[in-house]
Amino acid sequence: MTSKVDMEKLVSLCKRRGFIFPSSEIYGGLSACWDYGPLGIELKRNIKDAWWRSMVQERDDMVGLDSSIMMHPRTWVASGHVEGFKDPLVECKACHQRWRADEAKDGKCPDCGGELTEPRMFNLMFKTFFGAVEEEAQVVYLRPETAQGIFVNFANILDTARKKLPFGIAQIGKAFRNEITAGNFIFRSREFEMMEVEFFVKPGTDEEWLKYWLEERLNWYVKLGISKENLRLRQHAKDELAHYARDCYDIDYLFPMGWAELEGIANRGDFDLTQHWQSSGRDLSYFDPDSEERYIPYVIEPSAGVDRSALAFLVDAYDEEPDKDEIRVLLRLHPDLAPVKVAILPLSRNEALLPMASEVYADLRQRFMTQYDDAQSIGRRYRRQDEIGTPLCVTIDFQSLEDNQVTIRDRDSMKQIRVPVAELRNSLAAKLAGEPLEVLPPGGSYWLGFEG
Ligand code: ATP
Repeated sequence: MTSKVDMEKLVSLCKRRGFIFPSSEIYGGLSACWDYGPLGIELKRNIKDAWWRSMVQERDDMVGLDSSIMMHPRTWVASGHVEGFKDPLVECKACHQRWRADEAKDGKCPDCGGELTEPRMFNLMFKTFFGAVEEEAQVVYLRPETAQGIFVNFANILDTARKKLPFGIAQIGKAFRNEITAGNFIFRSREFEMMEVEFFVKPGTDEEWLKYWLEERLNWYVKLGISKENLRLRQHAKDELAHYARDCYDIDYLFPMGWAELEGIANRGDFDLTQHWQSSGRDLSYFDPDSEERYIPYVIEPSAGVDRSALAFLVDAYDEEPDKDEIRVLLRLHPDLAPVKVAILPLSRNEALLPMASEVYADLRQRFMTQYDDAQSIGRRYRRQDEIGTPLCVTIDFQSLEDNQVTIRDRDSMKQIRVPVAELRNSLAAKLAGEPLEVLPPGGSYWLGFEG
């Protein structure tokens, strides 16, 4: 099975429309680092907001955290990352390209077929130094996952948040990994964002909770528009498990380069809390008031990448369809994720339309991420909004000046409907919340039929 989307086309759309640019591009770019432009930042914020809403806001058993990127270096010794967060690296003796050993399994350089060196272990954590002297005592790491910030705050949160097990702590933030071979656009970068939950449960209930989270997380992607057939679950083989994991599943997505991990959901057991307890001396056990016993909680961790999610949502939304003599390119993004929700498009730049168009714009932008565009023909402007995934366009024409009605045009069906300006906000909100255009509130709205 292969993806219907060509990565080059998507990268080009992202660049052309201002979603994603190579980092420091005027200096030739910095390998595997990316900048999110005006539309990319909106998409990314919407993904994070949707995640936070479903993980924290809509649940009673979750609280949030924003821990610092740099942590006490002993954290990473206790967590096993200093010793274990390593990939085997091989180098091609001919072209000097470096590879992760598992990417060059045939023993020949995947690029030029050259002979490879013996593997040596390479730690993926970025190091930097506190203070003026670059000495070992002052080493700090840029976190390779946000999870450890949650574990070291477990006791603080238990003491203050008035939560009983099972409960979770959610965090969104940057992480850094000195990947040996980064690439595939924003799929694998050296600086990226993670959305992580550490969900603390009573030992013995962990397998059940793991299943629960697998389902929850799969449903989240589907609810936000990813096609089920492009998602799959893959259980890790025993020899593949990370040093902390008792069990682990990947939610894979069918990316343009093939099936690959979108999110990992691991049963971390009591590994992390035990390690930090032993290393710091701070008791990290939990007294269960129901069973009146004390134990170290087990942890289920759904760990998702913001950037990988953004890529999956873009790939899944990308569509091309014949439209008269042209190809209509569109992003069928879920309205919650679309960078711009509503575009205000006066039919032309004619001055007579300006007051009403400006008034509608001023009103709607308070409620929705709204864009105003009066350049070029209306058809071109619809195409531009299609290409950036704007679900709804509002057109103001000369008729509007007489009957105080405007046209709403739907991105996916290209259907159009007339609504009184007084009802515009409600109609848009209803449509963005998933109601079909047909069931708008009564009061004079009627079908215009299809565009063109
Ligand atoms: P991979 O096997 O692809 O290297 P991983 O198993 O190391 O990934 P995890 O440690 O499980 O990844 O990280 C959780 C999530 O963080 C991943 O599912 C992915 O979405 C995201 N992620 C991890 N590494 C990167 C990266 N280098 N660039 C972008 N996202 C990443």
